[in-house]
Amino acid sequence: MFCVKCGKEENTYEGLCKECYLSKRQFVTLPELVDVQVCPHCYAVRLKKTWIDAPTIDKAIELAIKESIKEDRDVEITGMRLDLVERDPRNYHAAVEVSFRAGELSATRNFKAGIRLKKDTCQRCGKKSGHYYEAIIQLRSSVKETGDKRLARAREHILSKVEKMGSESRNIFISKEESIHGGHDFFFSSNSAAKSISRELSKMFGAEVKSSPSMAGRKDGQDLVRMTYLVRLPEYDIGDLLEIDGEYFELKHLDGNKLTLVNLGSWQESSQSIGRLTDIRVLRREENVREAIIVSESSKELQIIDPESLKAIDVIKPAKYIGRRASVSMVRTKKGILLVP
Ligand SMILES: [Zn+2]
Ligand SMILES: [Zn+2]
Repeated sequence: MFCVKCGKEENTYEGLCKECYLSKRQFVTLPELVDVQVCPHCYAVRLKKTWIDAPTIDKAIELAIKESIKEDRDVEITGMRLDLVERDPRNYHAAVEVSFRAGELSATRNFKAGIRLKKDTCQRCGKKSGHYYEAIIQLRSSVKETGDKRLARAREHILSKVEKMGSESRNIFISKEESIHGGHDFFFSSNSAAKSISRELSKMFGAEVKSSPSMAGRKDGQDLVRMTYLVRLPEYDIGDLLEIDGEYFELKHLDGNKLTLVNLGSWQESSQSIGRLTDIRVLRREENVREAIIVSESSKELQIIDPESLKAIDVIKPAKYIGRRASVSMVRTKKGILLVP
């Protein structure tokens, strides 16, 4: 086909060769000056009315430039290459190459633009620095000593969960964390996030959760209510041994207040709801369980070396015991030495 304008013989678009067609139409435009509103604390960039997270200033500028590119209705932007030069902290120079497709035509356009940075604290950073909160999670250990591993684990769970929720919604964050003896207080920007996390802690750690509202004044004729979730971790952890009404159990699994227990006499498993258990004494696994070498095994008994006295002793094999081991875990109880699965 011949171009009706210059006569060149090649593929034509609306009767024109690629060069003539590109000089006839604009396809895409970019303003010579792009104003970019960036939060100096978190680099979020404001596009129209919403703040969008960006990891760096350069990325924030890139997002703002993309937003400023305007294309004709039949044009699809397929890519963008950007060269940024910082002139001073508020002014950048951008060389932008935009790739696009219009029908069968694929082409690029080059632009030069001045970038004017305007630093503006975003809503989230404003609320964070003002310690804004709708709810508090008070996470508490029920162990007196410091260094409760469950407390550390539960805290980790809260922080990673909030980070994940925060990457999906900018309205969810912790505006303050306070550590006190035996616990941590987390100030939540969102009550629904605090509520769902405290429920999770109850399920995962068997924690007891008490919620209480408090009045925090009035806004627009409405009472402002803040919630406090007191999350108390239980004394026991998975793997610990429990003495319940004179019987000994290993805590194998927990789901809220439902405990899966293994009786140390028989190694038989059962499920118990914590509401039905009255008198529980916790024997922490790391302090009470020892490993004993097995000397010999008969059909009903094991002979093991007591790791304390180093004497050989006979213990009854639990019904669910499966043999041929070199050693076995044991615990000293009021009922004598019991084997631990
Ligand atoms: Zn032409
Ligand atoms: Zn910010």
